[in-house]
Amino acid sequence: MLKILQWYNASLSRRISSVFMVLLTILLIVIAFSISQLRVIDAEMKEVAYIDVPLNQIMERVQMLQLEQHILLEQFRLKESDPNEKMSPAQEFTYQKQQMKKQLDLAVKLLADSFKNNTVRFKTQQHHRLLTEIEDYHQHSDLFEQALEQVIINDTLDDAHKQKLERLASNLELSVKKILDEINHMTIDASRYTQKHEQEFLWINITLGICALLIGILLTSYIIQFFRKRIARMKHDITQIDSSLAAGMPLPFPQVTEQDDCLDEFSALERELKLVMGRLAQEIENRELVEQQLLRLATHDKLTGAYNRHKWDEQLKWQVSLGQQGSLFSLVLLDIDYFKRINDQFGHPVGDKVLTHLCQLIQAELDNTAMLFRIGGEEFAIILPLQNGQMAMQFAEKIRVKVEQSAEQGIPAYTVSMGVCEFQAQDSVRTLFNRVDQCLYHAKGQGRNQVILE
Ligand code: GH3
Ligand code: MG
Ligand code: MG
Repeated sequence: MLKILQWYNASLSRRISSVFMVLLTILLIVIAFSISQLRVIDAEMKEVAYIDVPLNQIMERVQMLQLEQHILLEQFRLKESDPNEKMSPAQEFTYQKQQMKKQLDLAVKLLADSFKNNTVRFKTQQHHRLLTEIEDYHQHSDLFEQALEQVIINDTLDDAHKQKLERLASNLELSVKKILDEINHMTIDASRYTQKHEQEFLWINITLGICALLIGILLTSYIIQFFRKRIARMKHDITQIDSSLAAGMPLPFPQVTEQDDCLDEFSALERELKLVMGRLAQEIENRELVEQQLLRLATHDKLTGAYNRHKWDEQLKWQVSLGQQGSLFSLVLLDIDYFKRINDQFGHPVGDKVLTHLCQLIQAELDNTAMLFRIGGEEFAIILPLQNGQMAMQFAEKIRVKVEQSAEQGIPAYTVSMGVCEFQAQDSVRTLFNRVDQCLYHAKGQGRNQVILE
């Protein structure tokens, strides 16, 4: 299991080489098996050639001799030996016996040599049995010869002797028959066994070949699938980046896990892609942040956070154009009273704090349509969309009172003067601003800490 996991996490080249090794091993097994089987078959063929074929030849001669012996025995039985014959029955039997013995000795020698040369690979028991049968034959033949000699020496053939001779003769015939049967069985078995082995060899080789082919196909399709899956995954990641970039959406931030570390080339590539994606996403995020900061710097006052002069010019123009199209809005112009004195009395940093304090106070009162601008050192403007002069006046008065009443630690008491104007249809940027500036001027002139509505 661990091995399989290791294989799964191994590099691609290692995986392919291990697949190749598996196939090579199967191929080597097939070759080794074929060689060993061919050796077995070769040995069996040799055994058939060196033992069974000569044994068969011997068997044919033994069969001939058996026939002759049979005839001889029949002659003894009938006691009709040819008077012209040169040999006595005993001599004849001895001659016959010697012939038979010669053939059987050949068989014994053949088997003994085969055992010595290790040629006999199968049916060893049968060979041993054959040797015992031959041994048996020799004993029976000796016994028969002795009995025959006795009959000839005594020149009597009573019933008892006759019966004994008959019994020994039939034993002798039976033992020859057993030898022949044994050899016959052996040769039939040998051919059957060899044929069976050849078939087994064929089937096992075919099976192993098919196995190797199947494993090859399976592993190849696994590798193809693996390639396709990984490529599809990477393609998906790239498409996602592309569509996110095209739509101006934030890039997906892929997580690189520790597991991604010990992987194959594809995973390493995927990991690299994820890292690049991560860096790209980070870069884009940083760039957006910088853009936002730049935009804020371009449109906002650094000290107070209110919109700056640049934004004021732009926004007022836009608001006036809206107003000229019928949109209602009002303008408030605000100036801190005697601000120079605050600076002089408490120092510039305290003056800065007063500016910041004032802006926080105003921002807290604005709804999300209204906008606060710092248009000069201690001069501010507020655009109040959808508000008429009266509403703007109330709003400004509320601010004035709050400023007047505020008592905060580290902030000296101060007041503000304001001019308020509602946009009129005939107004331009210049006329509107002049009007509201006049209002502020009057507020200052009339003693400060007040709001003047035109
Ligand atoms: P008035 O009531 O007539 O408006 O009198 P004022 O003293 O407020 O008006 P003035 O125009 O004489 O003085 C404005 C002062 O604001 C002068 C300048 O030093 C100060 N000032 C301008 N910008 C800043 C700033 O950013 N921080 C600080 N602390 N002071 C500033
Ligand atoms: Mg002032
Ligand atoms: Mg001023």
